[in-house]
Amino acid sequence: QHNIGTILKNLGIVELNPAYSTGNKWGSLADSARIDSFSPVNGKKIASVLVATKSDYEAVVKKAEEAYLFWRSQPAPKRGELVRQFGDALRKNKEALGTLVSYEMGKSLQEGFGEVQEMIDICDFAVGLSRQLYGLTMHSERPSHRMYEQWHPLGIVGVISAFNFPVAVWSWNAALALVCGNVCIWKPSEKTPLTAIACQHIIAGVFKVNDIPEGVSNLIIGGKEIGEMLSNDMRIPLISATGSTRMGKAVAAAVASRLGKSLLELGGNNAIIISEHADLDMSLIGAVFGAVGTAGQRCTSTRRLIIHESVYDAFTAKLVKAYGQLRIGNPLNQHNHVGPLIDTDAVASYMGSIEKCKAEGGRFLVEGGVLNGEEYASGCYVKPCIAEVENDYKIVQHETFAPILYLIKYKTLEQAIALQNGVPQGLSSAIMTLNLREAEQFLSAGGSDCGIANVNIGTSGAEIGGAFGGEKETGGGRESGSDAWKTYMRRQTNTINYSTTLPLAQGIKFDL
Ligand code: NAD
Repeated sequence: QHNIGTILKNLGIVELNPAYSTGNKWGSLADSARIDSFSPVNGKKIASVLVATKSDYEAVVKKAEEAYLFWRSQPAPKRGELVRQFGDALRKNKEALGTLVSYEMGKSLQEGFGEVQEMIDICDFAVGLSRQLYGLTMHSERPSHRMYEQWHPLGIVGVISAFNFPVAVWSWNAALALVCGNVCIWKPSEKTPLTAIACQHIIAGVFKVNDIPEGVSNLIIGGKEIGEMLSNDMRIPLISATGSTRMGKAVAAAVASRLGKSLLELGGNNAIIISEHADLDMSLIGAVFGAVGTAGQRCTSTRRLIIHESVYDAFTAKLVKAYGQLRIGNPLNQHNHVGPLIDTDAVASYMGSIEKCKAEGGRFLVEGGVLNGEEYASGCYVKPCIAEVENDYKIVQHETFAPILYLIKYKTLEQAIALQNGVPQGLSSAIMTLNLREAEQFLSAGGSDCGIANVNIGTSGAEIGGAFGGEKETGGGRESGSDAWKTYMRRQTNTINYSTTLPLAQGIKFDL
């Protein structure tokens, strides 16, 4: 029902294999290596994309450096106007881009549209922000002196993104970085190059109409090697990297060794506490959507349910029944709840985690497995499963990027909070309770240690208005709303003396 060829054409993608783009210029060397993009929906090859070489990389960085000199001199509201137009272009392309996201990445069509909506939302946010990049003023201790702070752009922002939010994560970074006066170089996941090419076409179209020079928004296609080039490059003051904790540790070390800044958005191991005071029907929707939405491939996916012993049996029965009703299949068919995993490596990792869980003593209430048959020919469709476990199992401490849900029983809220915090990651958390004391305790300093803590909402599905990110092995970075923009700028403190003398601070005397 969806003709991907037409969708690509509508998105302006005629040449399917560029290695890089500096805007309206697309570059490719015919003899470089290629990445094949296969759809997990049906296993078909969508395109074969060229990988950027070291000289492509150099050409992009050089263009970005030139463009920065132009872009930083544009007033911030003018930059915001460009981002406003980009948001409008996304509105026009929402259906086509959302469908491509669903087809290339495998998430449901609704979630594909939702992802593009998130891009539109962050553009709106960034437009307003472009008139609000506020600094503070301070009172000087010296007479006839004025003190204030202001925020300046950093330069080139390198964006390394993961496959699971192939377009939204870039836009969270790019929309803010651009209004702040930076230029961007985006290295998307090698598993989802086409959606990135589509986004670059959309933003380049806006820049063309406005005569913006090449190099403000750049795309570079490749794997880990390109990510490493960005991380080690002194010319790139900020690297924003989204992906696994393993990748984050490598990027953090490389960027820190040159004293650059990094913004890290890494893995989660998110839990919902289902209290004895929970609305169980509401909790069920939050838990099931959190665990099986995007086939368990969200950084905020619900991995663990920590359930009070008094409601454990009742809630588990509801959960098992709900899993029995899940429809697994083509994500472009809106009738289905669960689509495929990204590729067969992800399927192998899912199967491996199930085996490890069983070996450690996990008891499966809903069995997992790979689906076979014509509809599942890509080999990427798996059954969401549920296991009763102990929190300290090695496999439970680890993020498996697949729909495996772990159940843990608790007696007291203190114990539940300790279990929720008792993992290396610290991204998202939630409590389901109608009891005010419990909710406030969960949100207090002694409660959840995560960057996101929700009450009567699941762990996934954040809005762009809040700062997004997590603690511990999740990396500590914050993107999107609130004052996350400050990461994309440098703060400068200014003191101006309009007196006729030069008094020193702290009353120090120095006479000549
Ligand atoms: P991944 O770590 O395999 O790859 C992510 C990106 O990093 C890719 O573009 C990859 O090419 C690049 N990369 C890999 N190794 C690198 C290195 N040494 N140096 C530089 N770049 C390198 O992750 P993935 O499988 O694409 O995505 C899934 C992971 O992303 C999960 O752990 C998930 O929780 C996490 N994630 C986190 C957030 C968040 O906001 N916290 C959002 C989305 C995804």
